[in-house]
Parts: sequence; C-alpha cells; structure tokens
Amino acid sequence: MDFSQTLSDKSDAIIDQWVEAVYQDQQIEATQELTFKAVRDSLPRVLKALATVLSESATSDLQTVVDASLEHGTLRAEQGFEPAEIAREYRLLRFVIFSHLEQDLLQGSPQDVLRAVRLIDTVIDEAIARCFNSYTQGRLQEFKQLQNQLRLTNQELTRLVHANKESVSQLAHELKTPLTSIIGYSDLFLRQHRQQSLQDSYSDIESIERVLKSSRLLLRLINDTLEISRYDAGQMKLQPTLTDVGDLINLVIEMIEPLALAKELSLVVDCDRAPQQVTTDPLRLQQILTNLLSNAIRYTQTGSIRLECWIESQQQWAISVTDSGVGIPPEAQAQIFNPYFRAVTDPLVQSTDGTGLGLAIVSRLVQLMHGEIKVNSQLGKGSTFTVILPLD
Ligand code: ADP
Repeated sequence: MDFSQTLSDKSDAIIDQWVEAVYQDQQIEATQELTFKAVRDSLPRVLKALATVLSESATSDLQTVVDASLEHGTLRAEQGFEPAEIAREYRLLRFVIFSHLEQDLLQGSPQDVLRAVRLIDTVIDEAIARCFNSYTQGRLQEFKQLQNQLRLTNQELTRLVHANKESVSQLAHELKTPLTSIIGYSDLFLRQHRQQSLQDSYSDIESIERVLKSSRLLLRLINDTLEISRYDAGQMKLQPTLTDVGDLINLVIEMIEPLALAKELSLVVDCDRAPQQVTTDPLRLQQILTNLLSNAIRYTQTGSIRLECWIESQQQWAISVTDSGVGIPPEAQAQIFNPYFRAVTDPLVQSTDGTGLGLAIVSRLVQLMHGEIKVNSQLGKGSTFTVILPLD
C-alpha cells in the first residue's frame, strides 16, 4: 500500500489541522506569541519529507526527513519552543496523520497495516530525534552568545569598579558573584558538551533553559543599571532628528502587540490628534514607549491597554499609556520612579521578571528630553502614564 500518495493528496488538510491542534494545545505556550504563519512556516516541508520517505521502501535512507526536521528544529529554537513543546507538536502530527489515513488503513491487509504503522512511527521518531538535535545546537549557539555578552559586561563592571564610582562599584561587586557562577556553570557545561559530542539528555537541555533565563534577567538588570549610571554621570546623550510620529508609533505597536495578544488584552491606539512630525531622539522615545507599554501589559490581567497622542500646546505634545490593571497604591506613586522600587505585592504579578529599573530609566530619558512624566492611578482600576514632550 502506498500511503505517501494519500499524505500528499491530503497535505493541505493535514497541515491545517496540525497547525490548529498545535495552536490550541494549552501545553504549547510558545505559540501564544507567534502568528499562525510563523507556526505553519516549516511544517509543509516536514510533511512533504515524510511523504517522500513513505513512498520509498522501509530501508530507504531518511535524509529528506533529516534535513527537513533539522531545519524545523532550528526554527523552533529561534521561536522559543521548549523541548517538551516540540515533542508535543510531533505527537499531534502523529495523531493527525493517523486520523487522515484511517480509511485507507482499514482497507489494507493486517500485514500492510502493521508495516505502514511501523514505518510512519519510525519516520516520525527519526524526525523528533533530528529536530531535538538541531534545537540543542540552536540553543547552544544562543548560550555561547550570551556567555560572550556576559563576559563583556563583566569586563565593563570591572572597569567601573576600578574607576571608583561609589554606588556603581558597590552594585557591580554584588552582581559579580552570580555572574561569575553563571559563567563558570556555562563553561563547565560547554566543556562537558564538547567531550560528549552531542549526547544531550532532556535534563541537560532543561539546565540550559534555566541558565539562559537567569542570565537574560541578570544581563537586563546590569544593562539597566549601567544605563542609569551613564545618565547620572552625564554621559547619556540624545540624538535628535525630525521624526514621523505615526511611523514610530506603528513600530512600537508592532513590537509590543504579541505581548498583549499573549494575555488576550486589547491594544487600542488613538493618535489621530498627534503631530505629524516632531524633533526627538527616535530610539530613546521608542525605549520610553516600549517600557510604559510593557509595564501596562505586565501589570494588567484583563481588559485593555490604550495608547493616545495629542498636541498639548503650541510648544508641546503628549503621549499617554492607560491600562485597566492592578493600579499603584497612592503612597507608592511618588516612589515608582526611584531605581529598584517595586510596588506590587500581588504574588501573581510579583513573580514576573521585573527589575524595578524601567521607570527610573524612563523618567531620566524624559528629563533629558526636557519633558515631564505624570502618573494617575487607582488601585484595582488601572493606571495612566502621561509623557509631555517639546514639539521641537
Ligand atoms: P519593574 O521592572 O518592577 O516593572 P519599573 O521601574 O518599570 O520596574 O516599575 C516600578 C514599579 O512600578 C513596578 O514594580 C510596579 O510596582 C509599578 N508599576 C509600573 N508600571 C505599572 C503599571 N502600569 N501598573 C501598575 N503598577 C505599575
């Protein structure tokens, strides 16, 4: 029996059902931040490769599947899938394929059916193995890059310690211990990995995930701290240029939209009354808006996030970010712009990976732009952050 023809004939239906199943599977969380197209992209090639192998004999070499699933694994690593999520994705594929082949299988002899089921299983197992292989490679590459970045940051911290800047050197000193252990751990892992030549077990991959997660947070913490110390040392400079407000807002929304979608929050933009062009530092303004919007999303469980812009006066324009989230207690509102201050006591929200430095950076940038930032918030109802900036 030749099931490859059925697979090819039904490939569109199989892929659609597969993508749908991957999307709806609650345990595959990585898809929450991806578009339908991004999830679908490499699947047709994997399925086509499976059909090609099935059309040949059971002894045929699996090179087509190997290539397709290596490519698929690399993509999934880039998209932030966990190993368990990739395994689930293939389990769903197995299920979808069998549900489409059921009618054909029922018409074959028991020997034919057994042979076909074994072959399909073998091919999918091989695909999973190869996919993991390239997934691990992808992760390792990211891991090495992170390690290099950490090394550079470590050097920068050492330089600052020597420059004898009181508060920064104290902080740098505190950060050096965990940083050193992360670098030590990753060094050890990579050395072992080289000796074992890619015999990664599931727990190895999980260790990489853990190290990567804390390294990312630590790196953000250090970078944010350095950003503040640069400002405090008067080294932060703006690069103003004539900027199209609509383009800049679209860019920010494009970046931030997946975060809102992942929490099923609606993102409303009302910038009809915005000036068309302003003179500003576009990268820094982008940084301000991204920070305010990601906070709004982080501290909101249901409802909506609203971004508004308007011309405030002959010399000024304004942007506000409003959320329907947890709100900020009145006594904390004056402190949220201080470095390392975190007001939220809700354990659900507290567990997120904040650093307490975002608003401190935002308020410094706004100051540098000769602007003003205000907060208006009601506990349990939501918050509005308004930034007023000069038009020129
Ligand atoms: P973090 O990394 O903790 O979010 P920020 O400097 O961005 O640091 O914010 C400081 C604190 O201000 C947060 O810990 C949170 O308590 C509070 N906060 C900031 N934005 C919001 C918001 N939109 N809603 C409620 N609380 C907020």
